[in-house]
Amino acid sequence: MVNSLLIIAALALIVQAFIGLTYLISSIWEKEKRASIFAGLQFLGMLGLVIAFFYLVEGGFFETPTGLALLIAGVSVGAIGIFLLVRKTKPNQRALKGTAGLTVGEVKRYDQRQHVFGRNRSIRPGSEQYRRFYREHPEMEECDAKRREMGLTLGQHPGAIDGPYGRANVAATFAFWSIPIYLQSPKKVKPQAHPELRGKKVSLSPEEATERVEGYTRSIGADLVGIAEINPVWVYSHRGEIYYDNWEDWGKEIDIAHRYAVVFAMEMSFDMVGAGPHTPTVMESMQNYAKGAYISTQLASFIANLGYSATANHLRHYEALMVPLAVDAGLGELGRLGYLVTKEFGPRVRLGAVTTELPLIPDRPVDIGVEDFCRICKKCALCCPSNAIPLGDQAEVNGSFRWKLNAKSCFDYWAKIGTDCNICMRVCPWSHARTFPHKVIVKLIIRNSIARRLFSVMDDIFYGKKPRPKPGPRWAGFNAGQSG
Ligand code: SF4
Ligand code: SF4
Repeated sequence: MVNSLLIIAALALIVQAFIGLTYLISSIWEKEKRASIFAGLQFLGMLGLVIAFFYLVEGGFFETPTGLALLIAGVSVGAIGIFLLVRKTKPNQRALKGTAGLTVGEVKRYDQRQHVFGRNRSIRPGSEQYRRFYREHPEMEECDAKRREMGLTLGQHPGAIDGPYGRANVAATFAFWSIPIYLQSPKKVKPQAHPELRGKKVSLSPEEATERVEGYTRSIGADLVGIAEINPVWVYSHRGEIYYDNWEDWGKEIDIAHRYAVVFAMEMSFDMVGAGPHTPTVMESMQNYAKGAYISTQLASFIANLGYSATANHLRHYEALMVPLAVDAGLGELGRLGYLVTKEFGPRVRLGAVTTELPLIPDRPVDIGVEDFCRICKKCALCCPSNAIPLGDQAEVNGSFRWKLNAKSCFDYWAKIGTDCNICMRVCPWSHARTFPHKVIVKLIIRNSIARRLFSVMDDIFYGKKPRPKPGPRWAGFNAGQSG
């Protein structure tokens, strides 16, 4: 029995030292200075344990009564610890119902005209729309007028946070921006079938259609794809964004006749987001919006060629709210920061969708432990420079029980620094690059509530409560002395 216990203890110690080593390598690769130091110390401690263990085995210590007692205690504690950390704890039934699980009252459809982006980008002072909107919403006029006076509208000070060193990144950001603009017209977002294919509907079972559509979406660049049956409350009630001088559309009711949404996500680069709130992060957001525009228009066109109507939803043409659709499509859960948190990349994603009448098989919403983790963590809220993310518990907002982002504070900060900030996304423990040790940690977090508590504390120790931005890739430099 002693020999069996010695083999188990030796294996356990070697495995933990190996995981410690991979964590050290991962931290160095991620350019996380603080984590590298802590991971180095942790690895040396683990290595010291292995060496001490074999030294004691050689000296026959574990054959003495004290040594044997220590061996039994050590193996037992280790076994209990592993059991407590890897067992699957109670699932979150709310999360498994998707957005229906968050609904506690009547949800009124969102009016795009009232959205802070719609108000500040699309309502021109002096216009008929301006008069109509503020007549109905006088409570918003003073605050919006003040923002305009101060020049705090998006695009007014692009890249301001980095001054002259960010200009090359601003140039790249606008280059990416040109793609959604190019793909914004009604013909592109609601495509017709190719003339050769018109009137020739392809007959597909829902299973085959789902497999083809999901495969196609991945093949053109999406990292995650899911299907949602559209809950109409997540469709905007009225159009409020002006995309191609479509002033006649402003204020029109939006009615989606489609039953399904193909929702997809693109991973944002860990290095680029790591520089947030500096200019590499807005370049990365825009690059993924450009990809989203490309993927959604291609996919809508594919479905139109199959003989079914389809509408692309991308940066310059949204008819529905992307995050609730993504939750219902099983891509992830809603986090405290107001973004979708996925198991594959955390909140480090951008979303797009195509709505369609093509019969598809919807995916199921998922429970990956985000709600429980966010209750403990609060890192995004602590790090948000505009205090836009609530530190407290979820509350009822328009019939949904969730954390409510203060969009006005967030928007004002974006406008001031001239990027889309992304600090909350950068500091979120779910956003780490998916190297081997982080994959293991995420697996444990998904399964187990104790792991969530443990790794939330560990994240603060290894990365700090308020991690600082990193320099980003050299080619996207934003400081004096950096290339770029
Ligand atoms: S930083 Fe923490 S609280 Fe915020 S979304 Fe991520 S896990 Fe949730
Ligand atoms: S993007 Fe920045 S300002 Fe907006 S919520 Fe996140 S951290 Fe706060």
